Amino acid sequence: MKHINKIEHLGIAVNDIDKANSLYEKLLGVPPYKQEIVESESVITSFFAVGENKIELLASTQEDGPIGKFIAKKGEGIHHIAFDVDNIEQELARLEKEGFQLINKTPKKGADNKLVAFIHPKSTNGVLIELCQEINS
Ligand code: ZN
Repeated sequence: MKHINKIEHLGIAVNDIDKANSLYEKLLGVPPYKQEIVESESVITSFFAVGENKIELLASTQEDGPIGKFIAKKGEGIHHIAFDVDNIEQELARLEKEGFQLINKTPKKGADNKLVAFIHPKSTNGVLIELCQEINS
């Protein structure tokens, strides 16, 4: 059985979402197809399509939010890699059994119509991993 379908998106932490939007629009030649605030994460996100994958820009709406803290510690840059999965609960259970440290034991509603859950970078060579599953509407 297939566990991970593909890299769904790369998350990039930025200070200023508007400046980063115009920079990435120049870089990729397309505007973001979506901008969205995720209140629970104190974050504003925008998404760019790159072939079948996406770039997600993330800026903090509060200094003490997760992205604000990340940038204070590490500066702007790649924040996470997101993998697309068909069954997020099943994958979380599998990864926990394999010894990975889950940040979210149960998936939550994330940006871009997805259920998401994160795996702690301590257990993945320093890379924050997001699992995401499209919500069927
Ligand atoms: Zn993401």
